[in-house]
Amino acid sequence: MAGLRVVPDSSLADLTTLRIGGRPRALLECESAEAVTAAVGALDAAGVPVLVLGGGSNLVVADGDLDLVVVAVRNSEVGYRDAGTDGPGEMVVRAGAGLPWDDLVADTVDRGYGGLECLSGIPGSVGATPVQNVGAYGVDVAQVLHRVRWYDRATDTDEWVEPDALGLAYRTSVLKNSSAAVVLEVEFRLDPDGRSEPIRYAELAGRLGVGPGERTDPALVRRTVLELRRGKGMVLDRDDADTWSAGSFFTNPVVPEDRLPVVRSRVSDRLGAEQAEQMPAFAAAGGVKLSAGWLIERAGFGKGHPSSSSPARLSTKHTLALTNRGSATAEDVIALAREVRDGVAEAFGVELHPEPVWVGCSI
Ligand SMILES: Cc1cc2nc3c(=O)[nH]c(=O)nc-3n(C[C@H](O)[C@H](O)[C@H](O)COP(=O)(O)OP(=O)(O)OC[C@H]3O[C@@H](n4cnc5c(N)ncnc54)[C@H](O)[C@@H]3O)c2cc1C
Repeated sequence: MAGLRVVPDSSLADLTTLRIGGRPRALLECESAEAVTAAVGALDAAGVPVLVLGGGSNLVVADGDLDLVVVAVRNSEVGYRDAGTDGPGEMVVRAGAGLPWDDLVADTVDRGYGGLECLSGIPGSVGATPVQNVGAYGVDVAQVLHRVRWYDRATDTDEWVEPDALGLAYRTSVLKNSSAAVVLEVEFRLDPDGRSEPIRYAELAGRLGVGPGERTDPALVRRTVLELRRGKGMVLDRDDADTWSAGSFFTNPVVPEDRLPVVRSRVSDRLGAEQAEQMPAFAAAGGVKLSAGWLIERAGFGKGHPSSSSPARLSTKHTLALTNRGSATAEDVIALAREVRDGVAEAFGVELHPEPVWVGCSI
């Protein structure tokens, strides 16, 4: 079929940013939405397990032979239109699911449109952004999403759906850890007047010298976000092993409000009253959101843990990223993830949940 290429000898270690994972039965590179639906439809009908792949930047994959076929989504067309009836002064961009996400952000900013700039530098594909409601620096995809075209695998239909259908929440959606649908194209709302999204993240507002909630130049926001992210090893760099990760390995835990004093008292017992008072805690849907990175560090897992010779270790720039220094196996990464999760639970009674999607393995 046109737009579909079969790659027989591939390894997930070469297709994921954590650089781990074994050999699939085959890899199908799909250059068009039609190729994606044809491939997934045929594999589903034949009962063959499928892994839908974008940029491989949010995956933890088992080593060895994998009983699945990888369908790599690579359609990457981009188009802009005036949103017209959708509201005055609004622009919509439509992008193929296989386009690298940051190429889209850069293109919108280069054209002088606001909206996506705070999400600069996030690896992966456009199609994966609604899957976990990608977010950074005070903005998430839910705030800028217009519509999604997906292939519904149960009903074999290719359709456009409104954001409501996606169940978007903090780092999740109905698509995460699910084989319900494949995203084929995504539309985002943009500000054609060249104003960024309101700057809500204090660290970013401070760097930009704007008040919380103010809008500013998207190009300046993009440059500043990229600078901040690079300092934390959160922009992919083939020469920097601190970026050979799946990004933040754990989501920030949300605890019920009445649990907060218990956590603070555990912190106080271990680290003193001052630390307990300083522990970051923000109101969030379902309770209070704590900082996973802060808890990991205070539980005794510093940057670079466990040692400079370990094949899998915490990033030397950011405790929330588990990195493969080049020779780690999936088991090495999983062992470190378990150690960190269990250590935080033991120290503070808070359960951390991994953010990436697990394939053929689990924590
Ligand atoms: C250095 C680094 C920094 C990061 N920073 C951030 C950050 O700031 N914020 C954030 O939210 N995330 C961040 N991430 C995580 C990751 O980049 C995002 O989750 C990204 O959206 C994953 O995209 P991907 O194309 O690589 O998905 P993949 O890893 O290929 O896939 C992830 C999941 O999405 C599914 N999927 C992929 N494409 C599709 C599709 N078209 N249709 C249906 N399902 C699909 C896959 O089946 C899989 O279950 C970071 C990762 C790294 C390595």
